[in-house]
Amino acid sequence: MTNLPLAENPVSFARQHLLDWTDLQFADWLRQQGERPFRGKQIWRWIYQRRESNFANMSDLPAKLRAALADHFVVFQDTVVHAEQSPDGTEKLLIRLASGGEVECVLLRDGDRRSICVSSQVGCAMGCVFCASGLDGVDRNLTRGEILEQMLRLQTRLPGNERLSHIVMMGMGEPLANLTNVLAALEMARTPEGLGISPRRITISTVGLPAAIDRLGNHGVAYNLAVSLHAPNDELRNQLVPVNQKIGLTAVLEAADRYFQSSGRRLTFEYVLLGGINDSRHCAAQLTKLLRQRSALLNVIPYNAVAGLPYRTPSPQRIAEFRQTLLQAGINVMFRQRKGSEINAACGQLRRNRQAIAK
Ligand code: SAH
Repeated sequence: MTNLPLAENPVSFARQHLLDWTDLQFADWLRQQGERPFRGKQIWRWIYQRRESNFANMSDLPAKLRAALADHFVVFQDTVVHAEQSPDGTEKLLIRLASGGEVECVLLRDGDRRSICVSSQVGCAMGCVFCASGLDGVDRNLTRGEILEQMLRLQTRLPGNERLSHIVMMGMGEPLANLTNVLAALEMARTPEGLGISPRRITISTVGLPAAIDRLGNHGVAYNLAVSLHAPNDELRNQLVPVNQKIGLTAVLEAADRYFQSSGRRLTFEYVLLGGINDSRHCAAQLTKLLRQRSALLNVIPYNAVAGLPYRTPSPQRIAEFRQTLLQAGINVMFRQRKGSEINAACGQLRRNRQAIAK
């Protein structure tokens, strides 16, 4: 072993992000401290359910343990640099990550629902032409702890008697390109000592990466899968969703079908309506053919305009026509309301606008 110079107080500048630690790692650490493993769950409950991020306040822990925790760990390591609330109650946070980069996450209030939309990467490599998140490519994957910190930060926006009810992995990034960390974070989100949210209320949204969809299917926990389709044929999808050039619609749909078979969860397909591009009756008719045989919900999302990009939401009449074609064919379709559009709630927009202001 080499002799490293000893820092005066080595733990003080190397405190670990506790949200990054798995149950097993934490149990090991607790054992080293001479503590019993049940303390792990007790501490998770303080953090995730009682929303306590200051170890000193965890009143049923021995004082020595509280001090050791404060020496070794932080619960929150990132900084909320901007928070916005729209009149419909939607809140959006811009978070500056201690390890570099900024991501966005959103809290949506809808009746009893308290849904959060969480990011999985800094930027995105998929290159969908209409999306603000991927305009500068991807910087890196988020860690488990960085994903969980977004959830906890959003939870702190709720009054004490309200709980988070749904999670959608639909923020910045491609969750299936960071599946290991996304699954590790969701494990904590669904565990009873964590956020205790059932996988039935958790949705992973993907551009459609077949191998990763299969991996998710084999993982064994039946999360909801949403596939961002955006076009009913390869010619158009290759333009809007460039990764499609290497994959193709058929492979995406087949992987989605396998996921439906293994998970039993009804699929969701997402379709961002772009005026004059994918909103024709012809597109709607083609879409009908793709979806008729499938147990799926089609989620049509009006486009949230991104500054500098040439895409627009179609006119209400055009949207109504598109909708009519699908409804007549018996497709299970939902036209999503725009929530939080006043605060740039489409992924990547807030970060982008602020970067533009900073330039
Ligand atoms: N990469 C994943 C998840 C993040 S994007 C995916 O592609 O599904 C979440 C959804 O928001 C996707 O369907 C995406 O196409 C859509 N989206 C991106 N930019 C948008 C915008 N400006 N307006 C409306 N929806 C948008």
